[in-house]
Parts: sequence; C-alpha cells; structure tokens
Amino acid sequence: MNDITKSLLNLYGYKVTGITGTKQIEVKVDYIEPTKCPCCGSERLRKKDQKERRIRHIGMGNRSLILILKTIKFCCVACKKYFWQRFQGVLPRMRNTEAFKEQIADLHHKGITAKDLGVDHGLGHATITRWYIRYLERRNLELKGAALPKVLGIDEHFFTKRRGYATTLCNLRTHRVFDVVLGRSEASLEGFFRQCQGKENVQVAVMDLSETYRKIIQKFLPKAKIVADRFHVIRLANHHFMATWKLIDPEGRRNIGLTKLMRQHEWNLAPEKQRKLHRYLAEYPALKVIYNFKQELCQLLLLKRQNHQQFKRIIPTFLTKIAALQSSNFSPLITLGNTLQSWQEEILRMLRFTKTNGITEGFHNKMEMMSRRAFGFRNFNNYRLKVRVACA
Ligand SMILES: [Zn+2]
Repeated sequence: MNDITKSLLNLYGYKVTGITGTKQIEVKVDYIEPTKCPCCGSERLRKKDQKERRIRHIGMGNRSLILILKTIKFCCVACKKYFWQRFQGVLPRMRNTEAFKEQIADLHHKGITAKDLGVDHGLGHATITRWYIRYLERRNLELKGAALPKVLGIDEHFFTKRRGYATTLCNLRTHRVFDVVLGRSEASLEGFFRQCQGKENVQVAVMDLSETYRKIIQKFLPKAKIVADRFHVIRLANHHFMATWKLIDPEGRRNIGLTKLMRQHEWNLAPEKQRKLHRYLAEYPALKVIYNFKQELCQLLLLKRQNHQQFKRIIPTFLTKIAALQSSNFSPLITLGNTLQSWQEEILRMLRFTKTNGITEGFHNKMEMMSRRAFGFRNFNNYRLKVRVACA
C-alpha cells in the first residue's frame, strides 16, 4: 500500500487508508513517519489533543484532491514544549502541500493564466501570484553567483514607458541570457558590474556602437576585447546612406518601391529588380557613386573569420573608405565616417569573429512576448526573475 501511495500521491511517509468524495476526491491518509520534538529532537512525547487537517494536493488530470489527515498535539517530556505534529511536504498551518503549490506555479509559468487556474482549483489570483514569485525566486537561486561568460553580448531593450530601457547580458557561447539590468546608463550598470563575479573570465564583449557600453566595459572588464555587432554596424551605414539619398533626391526617397530596392544588398536583388534600380540610378550619377560605395562597404563589413593574412590586407582598404567618407560633401556621410573611425578597432575585430548579438535580439522578442502575456510588468525584479528562469 505504501508503494501505491508513493506513486499515486508522490509523497513520502504517508499511507492511504481510504478514498471518498463525490465532487472532489478526498483521500484519507495516515502519517507513518515517527514524530520528534522540533525543539530538542526527543521522541518521548505525550499526546494532548488531536484534530483533522484537510490539505489540497496534486490530483489526476487537472483536478486537485484533498488529503484528510489526523494531526496530534504533543507535549515533549524532555523540554515540556507543546507542538502540533509536523508532516513532510506540508508546512505548518498551510492548507496546500508544497508539491501542489509547485505544480500550480509551474503551470502558470508554462502559460496557463492565473484566472483559469483559480477557477479550476478554487484559488485566488493573489495566492497564485505569490506562489509563482516564490517559485521564480527558488529557481533563480540555482543561477545565483554564476560567473560572467567568456563571450558576452550586451544590448539594450525597451522595458516600460515609466522605467525606460533595460540592458540584456547574454552568454553568446551557450545562447542563454546571463542577466537583465534596469537602465542603460553608466550609473545603472555600475552597481551590477561591481558585484559581478568572474570579471577576468570575459574575453570578448559584443555590442552595438554605444559609447556608454564601451566605457563601462573598458572600465570594469579591461581584459575583454570589444567587438562591434555586425547587424548594428550595417544598419548604421544604411541609415546614413538613406539620409544622403534624401538630400540628393527627396522625391525618390519617399517612393516605397525604390526604398526597398535601395535598402537591400545589391547581390540579394532579382535581376529584373537590379535593372530597375540601375535605370533609376542612371538619372543621378552622384547617387550612383555613393550607392556603389555603400555596396563595397557592406561587402567588407560582412566578412568574417578572416585569417591574419587576409586581415592585414583589409585594414588599408577599410581606412581608405573611412577617409573617403570623411572628405565627402554630404553631412550624413561625414558623420558615418567619424563614427566608423571612432569604432575602427572594434569593427575590424568583428571581421575576425563570427559571434553577433543576433541571439540577444531573439531573446528580446521572447521577453516582449512574456511582457505582453503578463499585461506588462510593473516590478522590474519580478520581470528579471521571470526572464532568468525562462531564458537562462
Ligand atoms: Zn523537546
């Protein structure tokens, strides 16, 4: 019978003595583990009183069941303390087993709303939320004190209107979120990096072209090599190129079809689209020169895993491109040239690596979904707990 109890209830130390109930299954159980005084551990006890406890537990399907359990009030002969009998898997005075709370929290984590769970099991919204936050905290403890990863991705994402942005730190080797921190300024990240462990671990930090992030990494992770994120660099080049186009032909820039053609890499366009684009460019010789320049620049920026020899050949080409941008007549191109110059080391390093923040961007999608499902988070700490359990 004891084995059946174990498999039926997944509880240790109990014995089923009967099953009743019409609306809800009620299982009568006896507690078979010996009782000791919680104060001094003595087993010399005197019985003083008894009552029945009704405790909710995991049932079959999506229904819960009630354990009916006799509990005894003892007096310890050794230390004269009075106490009610304690049971494994149930905390004193609680009307639910710990396993039941865990199951409800787990179902909620997997996407069943607190409202539906409340209707099924007769629980209040606040109760489920409380259990769920405790569940997240427990699972977060397992992640506590982890050392910073070897390859760190750092990027910002939008949190809420009131609290603004948050920073995501990713492990780009294992494709997991390492942590999320509220804010994206030096002041808000400083506290996090101060208490972080394994700072000497970090060898590579991938980031967009953000001055704040660069400063903070240089300050706290001086050994880490900063690598620019390919996606952000190409997006930046595209952005300034489109701004230049607007200066040359504002009418054409407003044309959605042309915008699509201009934005894509030339080698990704179908032949007929390429012809259409070149017919347009033939009308603006200055634009054509800039367009071809951008194609070459993007081709260069897309290089990866370059060996030492190849890399040495790229450096002068890249520097000439920067100089050409800076000596241009168009202010967006000059700005682009200046930014590329300020980040030239990080961008050149990018050509030797393959790691990008693409995975971090993917996590941002997931976080946004989580935030929507919860109808937004007000408490950043709860949001962080949830992100770390779901993505770490
Ligand atoms: Zn005692």
